Amino acid sequence: MTSADVLATLRASGLPLKEWGTALDGSPMLAARAGGDRQPAIFLTAGAHCTETAGVHACLSLMQSLDTEHELHVLPLRDPVGFAGVDHCLGLAAGEAIVTGDPQKSLDVLRERASLLWSEDDLYLFQLGETGFVWAPATLGLQTFWRQFSLTGRLPREAADVLMPLRGRSIFFLNVNSTIDGSGALERCYHTVLGKDGQWLHLNRFFGQADAPGEVAAVDDLVQTVRPGLTVDLHEGNGEGFWMPIPRPSSGRDRVFDMTRAFFSYIEERGYPIETYEHWEASNGIEAADPDWMVPEPDLPGLFWLQQERRQEGPNLMTYAAGLGIGYGTEGPMEQPLAMRVDGLTEGIRRAIAVWERTQ
Ligand SMILES: [Zn+2]
Repeated sequence: MTSADVLATLRASGLPLKEWGTALDGSPMLAARAGGDRQPAIFLTAGAHCTETAGVHACLSLMQSLDTEHELHVLPLRDPVGFAGVDHCLGLAAGEAIVTGDPQKSLDVLRERASLLWSEDDLYLFQLGETGFVWAPATLGLQTFWRQFSLTGRLPREAADVLMPLRGRSIFFLNVNSTIDGSGALERCYHTVLGKDGQWLHLNRFFGQADAPGEVAAVDDLVQTVRPGLTVDLHEGNGEGFWMPIPRPSSGRDRVFDMTRAFFSYIEERGYPIETYEHWEASNGIEAADPDWMVPEPDLPGLFWLQQERRQEGPNLMTYAAGLGIGYGTEGPMEQPLAMRVDGLTEGIRRAIAVWERTQ
């Protein structure tokens, strides 16, 4: 699936669409309006991390098929630029069409056209036009991604001067997730942004900030306008099974617990794997100052309480939207087949939303 496919599916849906802003390449940040008129609204979204394809499929399916009396807004793709792939991002930065074809060729293109800002072994940071690109060789599973992602934490500490020319700019990762079903080596270009203050984050951060990238500002506008009583953000990540990182609500904890039990009842029925906290921890590449930024719920396997403030990166969408209602979300196991991930996210979330609606 490409960004153009997502836009075409939205436009062919027959649902009213609203453009909440534009992405780096000018493409519209489109949300569909579905459901009934009952308040509060539900906001369903995915694709903040463009390599996480299953949630985008799930959004497109649920916007047509979710049976709800509540006002429903679905913004299925939060990073249309990175989702359009490596050649699109290189072409946008270069100002002309670029066709690479394979990971090695993409490095040749960068060596030829871009300036090298930093390198270590076979890991490179280039600047092409106003945009940064991190290149690493394609490897199995999430290894390339974790290797590139660790730079976002350490380079601002270790080599802040190197990053100066890219402050306030997008920095893309090439060759992420080369063996992941649905987001192969050149199909997606993971999109990060270096803040004006030098903090290097991604498109599920910068909420509530005046200098947020266009993609985040659009979602922020939607949230502040619609004021959803339930925000559901679909992600995928490490691990062999499904898991739910949920901000622990200050009140109504039982309701979130029941929603999540309903989610996992579907996963169990289908015989899909549920992630254990121990395995999640062993396969996690996030280096947070406080290791307790996520803790397991003892009474429900796969439910992990997210304490986002302990990561010192500002709120993600779930924790930001939790100020207005319930902030809710999933992680699907990226190394499993795409069909399982799409089905688990779609049907699991359908059950969780049904519990939310019954207990409104
Ligand atoms: Zn994600």
